[in-house]
Amino acid sequence: MSDADRNTDRARVLAAAFHQNPLPLVVLADGGQVAELSDGACELLGQQRGEILGRDLRHRFLPPLPIEKCLDVNECLEHRCRREVLPQQGDPIPVEILCRPFHVDPDGDGPDHCLLYISDTRKRDYEDELRAARVAKLSLLNQVSEALYGANLTLDQVLEAVLICITAGQGLRFNRAFLLLVDDRQEVLRGELAIGPSNQDEAGRIWSDLAAQPEDLFSMMTSYDQSIKQTDAAVNAIVKTMIVPLAEHDHVLVRSMEQRQAIRITPDMDLPGVSAIRQWLGCDHFAIAPLVTRSGMLGAIIADNAISGQEITDLDLEFLQLFANQSASAIENSRLYTELERRLIDLRQAHEAQKEHQQTLLRMERLSVMGETSAIVAHELRNPLVAIGGFARALVRNLDPDDPNHKYAEIITEEVSRMETIIHDLLDFIRPQKLQRKEVALDELVTSTVERFEGEMQAKGIELVLDLQSGGAQCSCNPIEIQQVLQNFIVNAMQVMPDGGRIEVRTRGVEGGIKVEVCDSGPGIAEDTLDKLFAPFFTTKPTGSGLGLTICQQIIKSHGGVVGARNREGGGAGFSFILPLPRNA
Ligand code: ADP
Repeated sequence: MSDADRNTDRARVLAAAFHQNPLPLVVLADGGQVAELSDGACELLGQQRGEILGRDLRHRFLPPLPIEKCLDVNECLEHRCRREVLPQQGDPIPVEILCRPFHVDPDGDGPDHCLLYISDTRKRDYEDELRAARVAKLSLLNQVSEALYGANLTLDQVLEAVLICITAGQGLRFNRAFLLLVDDRQEVLRGELAIGPSNQDEAGRIWSDLAAQPEDLFSMMTSYDQSIKQTDAAVNAIVKTMIVPLAEHDHVLVRSMEQRQAIRITPDMDLPGVSAIRQWLGCDHFAIAPLVTRSGMLGAIIADNAISGQEITDLDLEFLQLFANQSASAIENSRLYTELERRLIDLRQAHEAQKEHQQTLLRMERLSVMGETSAIVAHELRNPLVAIGGFARALVRNLDPDDPNHKYAEIITEEVSRMETIIHDLLDFIRPQKLQRKEVALDELVTSTVERFEGEMQAKGIELVLDLQSGGAQCSCNPIEIQQVLQNFIVNAMQVMPDGGRIEVRTRGVEGGIKVEVCDSGPGIAEDTLDKLFAPFFTTKPTGSGLGLTICQQIIKSHGGVVGARNREGGGAGFSFILPLPRNA
């Protein structure tokens, strides 16, 4: 390629670079005529290149451009000025002109052309505004984070504060905000809380009330007026209907959380889930921001301008997302804090329970020593008592009934037999029971036990009624012991009816077990003794040991059951126990 060819090639590249430049660039000759201009300049002036080339451009500027001054480096030091430019059609456009004089003729006195970069300041003003708005919102975010972290709020307060910030005039200025949280089982996203007016009238009232609220967001969040809150009823009714299963990965709310991305929904968009949200909101233009932290998905925020109809801008969306990130951390923190508090309470309770257990253990140890001692004492007393009883009975036999000593000997016999009963029952109570269990049909066990008393009852004029309805249910129990309990109930019942009466023995299936009850038509139980019946040594009988019912309770408890006593409505008492059914029954 020759030098000449090479130069032509460079000139073509330069011309193309200049012509096709989207920046508004114009080269003016020293008479103000247009020597060259870029596509950007054509667009600004609203004309084709051919229409402008060679024309004097000075008077298309207001005030006109003093080209001679522009070319004189001593006259124009700044090379920058503000003008208005007149496009072919429409209003004058405010511009800033950057001017660079240069010379094409190397032999001339000075610059003979100048390059103008004409920038539309309207765009710049908009960008300035945008920047100012960004700064304001960043400062707001700062306030929010101070408020959310500094005020030691509960979880509910944090959630409320989040929604206040989204809707407040000092905040993100959305009309309404809806908060949805992922449930504990991580299965669904559920609407929790919402803020916002339900119609224009309410909106007017709230917004004027809000205007009267304190200036900074922090004070506003803490003094959020109750009357404003009450207008949230309608939106809160809406939010409660919002439920989205997390398995619906296509749903726009789930997708927003999974992709950690805020989404603006415009009326022309049709993504899965959008129509349901539109129905909930009654509005087809809204924004979604996910509440996500490093540990997982917490929920999502839906915000709209349903009342004012105002468009949701890029900036709104950008800040909603930023704000949602802040809120997610605050929500998580608050949850962790609550969890920590709960665990602390659990720990304290466990500590208290452990202390109590230790004391119970100590008490039980002491009781067990006492039990052993009592067993030894009772055992040791038995032999002398047998001897005393034997001699006393011999005396009763040998003494003349009119002899005053005969009566004393009789008293000794009676008292000794009472002591023998006490010692027998006491040893029964203390002796550790070995539970030999087997599956027993309770109705049969009851029948065979009751049969033993039929003769005695007949003799005493006691009518026996058997009402067995456990349906052949089988309980795992030690039949000897259960019989002992039943006998005790029956003997007691017979004892309170010396002149005859009626004994009814019933079995019934109840929740989790079988209930056996022995009812009598005796005098019943004095109200003030009802809670003492099962206590050791409680008796109202002259020769009673007061250990019968205590032993019954011990036996039933060791079977995992419960005992009970009651006064019946028509008179008489009822003593019962419930034995649990095997788990698989
Ligand atoms: P004891 O029979 O040696 O007195 P128990 O422990 O069997 O000991 O009974 C304790 C007390 O419960 C009895 O003294 C009596 O006051 C009361 N009691 C037991 N059964 C009945 C009943 N069927 N009706 C009224 N009171 C009863």
